[in-house]
Amino acid sequence: MKQMIPQPAFPGDGGMPADSAEARRYNRLLRRVGVADFVLGLLLMGVILAADWTSAFRNFAVRVAGDHHSISLFLYTTILLLLTKVFSLGLDYYGFRIERRYHLSNQHLRDWAWDQTKAFALVFLFSQALVQIIYFLIRLQPSWWWVTAWALFMVFSVVMAQIAPVVLFPLFFRFRALNDEELTARLTRMSEKAGTRVRGVYEWLLSEKTKKANAALMGLGRTRRIVISDTLLSICNHDEIEAVLAHELGHHVHRHMVKGIAVQCGITFFGFWCLKLAIRWAAFGWRHYAQIDFANLPLMILVATALSVVLLPVMNAYARFNERQADLYAWKSVGSVRPFCSAMEKLATQNLSEREPSRWVEILFHSHPAIGRRVKAALVWENSRR
Ligand SMILES: [Zn+2]
Repeated sequence: MKQMIPQPAFPGDGGMPADSAEARRYNRLLRRVGVADFVLGLLLMGVILAADWTSAFRNFAVRVAGDHHSISLFLYTTILLLLTKVFSLGLDYYGFRIERRYHLSNQHLRDWAWDQTKAFALVFLFSQALVQIIYFLIRLQPSWWWVTAWALFMVFSVVMAQIAPVVLFPLFFRFRALNDEELTARLTRMSEKAGTRVRGVYEWLLSEKTKKANAALMGLGRTRRIVISDTLLSICNHDEIEAVLAHELGHHVHRHMVKGIAVQCGITFFGFWCLKLAIRWAAFGWRHYAQIDFANLPLMILVATALSVVLLPVMNAYARFNERQADLYAWKSVGSVRPFCSAMEKLATQNLSEREPSRWVEILFHSHPAIGRRVKAALVWENSRR
């Protein structure tokens, strides 16, 4: 397979270097942490249900809050969130240690801990709001709560996609207007050619956190912007940056954001329907928790987590399909695959990515095709045009 392509028009010695043992080890560790995180989450909810700690938490919350339903729900959810955080803290810290060990993180423990605190605060806020709405709806519309909850959830997702670049990301990262007039003009021109109106090109000061490089087309409508990490700007020349942006614009041209929202619409509809089935079963089949009893929350979390595990390979396959479309757009619009290939090579090195993971690893875990395959596809495409 590897030798199928004629010697590539590729900078350097005419091919992608093989993955280092270091890159293999690093990615294996990351995968293990990801899997362990899922398993621990499922395990924790399973134990809380099986040992009926959930009833104990609910009784405690009701005792403290008395008749105030929303306050007791708030207390109960707080207990669950804190417990989950404490349970996963070890693994989170291990993830940070891995980034440090492989010299990818530029963060000190204190900065990392502060980011973790902010992230937890956001999760806390959003989870509390979601849970209050869900149990309010279950009381209001016992049969159809899940449809209303789903509709609200989708509205929330779209609003978040719009405001995230101006509200959420700045909580964790610093951005500033790109201080390179020539590049800014070039990228803006490209965006206009692709039919999107971007409201600015920004430098993403990612080097404060990590050595990894990244770029994106973020936001919707008025918050639409190009962001390029300083870590990318420091390793890539203008042609390469243009190739990376051309890929991002490929997502726009193929309307991946809108399609993604449509797919999410279908999947979350199915998900909420499963949640409805689960709590109905708990009430009438298992006869443990009435539908309006928020002690059934761990069951909902369990079902939602299990579903996302099952759907992950499907969603990843869909994402990889989109990535390939965006790549093709990039090669066509730039007219040469050279800058794309050299940018990919630099990104792989900088991010310690596996260029050639096993097929199974790619199918199960990767939202992007492996870089080795992307470069090969680019070279095959260019050769086919000759
Ligand atoms: Zn992409």
